[in-house]
Amino acid sequence: MNKLDSELLQAALRQNGLKYVATPADADVLLYNTCSVREQAEHRVFSHLGRWRKKAEADPGFILGVIGCMAQRLEKDIIRKFPFVQLVCGTQSFLNVPAYIAKISETGRSVIQTGGGPLEFERDPALRAQPHHAYTAIMRGCSNYCAYCIVPDVRGPEVSRPLAAVTDEVKRLAEAGVIEITLLGQNVNAYGRHPNYNEGAEGGLPALLENLNAIEGLKRIRFVTSHPKDMTDDILQAVAQNEKVCEHLHVPAQSGSDKILRAMNRKYSRRDYLEMTERARQIIPDVALSGDFIVGFPGETERDFQQTLFLLETTGFQQSYIFRYSPRPGTRAAAFEDDVPDSVKRERQQTLLAAQQRYDIKRRGLLKGAALNVMCTGKNSAQPHEGRSMGRTRQNDIVVFDAAPKRENISKGDICKVKIESTTALTLFGTELAG
Ligand code: SF4
Repeated sequence: MNKLDSELLQAALRQNGLKYVATPADADVLLYNTCSVREQAEHRVFSHLGRWRKKAEADPGFILGVIGCMAQRLEKDIIRKFPFVQLVCGTQSFLNVPAYIAKISETGRSVIQTGGGPLEFERDPALRAQPHHAYTAIMRGCSNYCAYCIVPDVRGPEVSRPLAAVTDEVKRLAEAGVIEITLLGQNVNAYGRHPNYNEGAEGGLPALLENLNAIEGLKRIRFVTSHPKDMTDDILQAVAQNEKVCEHLHVPAQSGSDKILRAMNRKYSRRDYLEMTERARQIIPDVALSGDFIVGFPGETERDFQQTLFLLETTGFQQSYIFRYSPRPGTRAAAFEDDVPDSVKRERQQTLLAAQQRYDIKRRGLLKGAALNVMCTGKNSAQPHEGRSMGRTRQNDIVVFDAAPKRENISKGDICKVKIESTTALTLFGTELAG
């Protein structure tokens, strides 16, 4: 979401006459778009800001700014520790940044803005990181208040963009050459389903997927992230019935212990989660599920952890992101005693990673001999596979492959039928089938 926000802001700044330069040292305006989800990211921003003190104090024309979640959360700390920072702008007003920069240039005075602002924006389809792929935000904020998470506080309640606006944006991206779109939101399954903030999005995610599926030129549609409690049958059916929607669902589980899930305020039980995965597999036979886990949440006993391990092993995830819990100030869990020793957290993280790796080897091994549709994402740059093409299957597996004999070149965005010849825990290897 932050990468997308940076792209959108770059476009807005260009429209206002600013140019993007290659290195920060050449910039007259230097902006840090920040994330508050983990502490380490915030520390990194503080250390970067300190490095610009000399330049900011010596050059009155230089504008240094902090935008995004951290600006929202730590506004006062930033102003106190770094008085030379001239722009502090929160998550809900970042699209006003061009106007704030103009104001600072004119008056020489700082702008601190962490209140609300416009959520709609005019996107420049030409400004995207990849020629064949683009991200599109379909909603902003979150209303779930998981006990460990700062997002609802820094990004506000979930607000869905109108379906027509999203459809129009994706159409323009497809006309500009995008063939794969990833829809973004903290909880995309709740798109159009918030009781208060849904104008124009009443059909929800199923209606949106159906609309986007009809867009000419677009070949693949993905969406992240999904909350397990909101994975309704109509969403699963929309994935199954719209052929451009990829069979991959990222559905963070976080824990397999009902006690810990309750303490996390996740609003589902282990049984609910397992039932959701069964429904997903019944409705979308080829579906791949990926998940997130947090180990060492306050109060997590060995028994709780074993239940998480059970859930991971029972579900069989295409990929798992496994994090050690650390308290974030301002969240409900920050008031809980962080009582699981770091050594235990590390051990549990390693245990889950090892279980995931065992499953990775088994699952990807079973794909040997299969012919899979792979969208090329570029060339591999690392030895020993340097120069070979890389891509993703519809289930989001990474594939390294060679072109079919006599094929001259494979470009980013080409969809190739690849026969899988060998596998490792994380990667499939193969050759494009001729014809
Ligand atoms: S669903 Fe929970 S973890 Fe995800 S953004 Fe919302 S509050 Fe945070």
